[in-house]
Amino acid sequence: MQQQLQKMKQLPALTLAERTARLKSLARIIRQHQVEIINTVSSDFSHRCAQESQMAEVMVCLDEIKHTLKNIKQWTREKVWHANWKFFPSKCAISPQPKGVVGVMAPWNYPFNLVIEPLVAAIAAGNRVMIKPSEVTPKTATLTQKLLRQVFTEDEVFVVLGDAKVANEFSQLPLDHLLFTGSTQVGKIIMNNASQHLTPLTLELGGKSPVLIDDNYPLDKAANSIAKGKWFNAGQTCIAPDYILISKERKAELVEQLKQQLTTSYPDFAENDDYTAVVNAHHMQRLNKYTEGLAATQIVPLSESSEPARQKIPPTLILDPAADHPIMQEEIFGPYLPIMTIDTLQDGIDFINQGERPLTLYLFSHRPAVIRQVREQTTSGSLAINETLVHFAQEGLPFGGIGASGMGSYHGHQGFLAMSHMKSVYYQSRINLNNLVRAPYSQLKKKIL
Ligand code: NAD
Repeated sequence: MQQQLQKMKQLPALTLAERTARLKSLARIIRQHQVEIINTVSSDFSHRCAQESQMAEVMVCLDEIKHTLKNIKQWTREKVWHANWKFFPSKCAISPQPKGVVGVMAPWNYPFNLVIEPLVAAIAAGNRVMIKPSEVTPKTATLTQKLLRQVFTEDEVFVVLGDAKVANEFSQLPLDHLLFTGSTQVGKIIMNNASQHLTPLTLELGGKSPVLIDDNYPLDKAANSIAKGKWFNAGQTCIAPDYILISKERKAELVEQLKQQLTTSYPDFAENDDYTAVVNAHHMQRLNKYTEGLAATQIVPLSESSEPARQKIPPTLILDPAADHPIMQEEIFGPYLPIMTIDTLQDGIDFINQGERPLTLYLFSHRPAVIRQVREQTTSGSLAINETLVHFAQEGLPFGGIGASGMGSYHGHQGFLAMSHMKSVYYQSRINLNNLVRAPYSQLKKKIL
């Protein structure tokens, strides 16, 4: 790893023509191998819904490449303007420069997408890239390595396979930038490791993304959107709705609406190809612990099954868990969805503000005053109003967390900026009036003061 990095550091940055050619060929390879990508992710998960993979692993990456190719010339252009009048007629400029060799570390929940999207930003900015995919999805990691070799030389993009020990070494390399996507807990280790070389970091982390429902928002619409966003990938999404805050009087109706949505979407979840499995036995055990210490009446499964489920947990509501129960203290990252009741909207805002800063806050409201109140009184990586998940797929929106949910952001132009050094350049004109300002200052005083 070390040697390969040193070698890559000696090589020149990718030219604009090389970046464009590689991104086009990356899009072609993804299109050609999409069925293989979808099937491989599915075999790593024991089952991943094909349409979910099509949308989240293939389509989103292709859209990101398309958007990047459309804008790359404009992003890479040096921006020049006249300096302050006192220095006229000299010029100032900002000249984007590749940082050098960028590291990308990815998690398992969208194991292809979360390698490719940071890679696209890094290549657009002209960097060489070292990648460490997740060991939890090893088949996808190997396939990613194989596909990237068809697009890039190993000196352009180098994929390192291995476990957490390898990941730990990887994050200690003297990289020129490191984009890490993963848990808040491991994010702290990464930040500590990266500090050895003052490696600049983008940390795309997790946490609890709350859903706040305003009193007169229609619950059929809210339930429809929450169900789509929560049980996509069986809740194993960094921005999955993690818990709901709703007024006491409306809780029973919301439960009913969610039941209706779920029985329509997944009438028999265990054998239903549309419902994704929990990634592995370790995560099954982790998730099963969340029902410990709860009364049977608090646990409401929303889908029935006549068959024993193969590594699947049905969509399940958890009603009014105590605020100090682990399910309300940790990121759930699975198909359980707690519903907490509040007396007023302000109670909901206060509850959210007592916790760590969320990656996304979901608000369901049509009232502009409420939207403004929540936008101004809460702090989160993103705020999504009246819909779940799709803000991730907007190339024009920076994606990232704040506080415990992350640091920095990427996607689209923001990704290009994160992977570039925005170099300040000053162009002195032939006529240099600055020469008037020099010692002895007594002369200057006579001339201009
Ligand atoms: P993780 O933190 O366990 O692993 C992520 C990466 O860190 C992997 O490549 C792994 O090899 C490496 N790693 C694991 N242990 C390490 C150690 N001790 N030292 C150094 N590296 C180590 O995360 P995960 O379980 O793969 O993914 C789930 C988490 O990722 C969730 O918290 C989720 O919210 C978050 N996530 C965030 C985003 C985002 O964009 N913000 C997207 C997807 C997932």
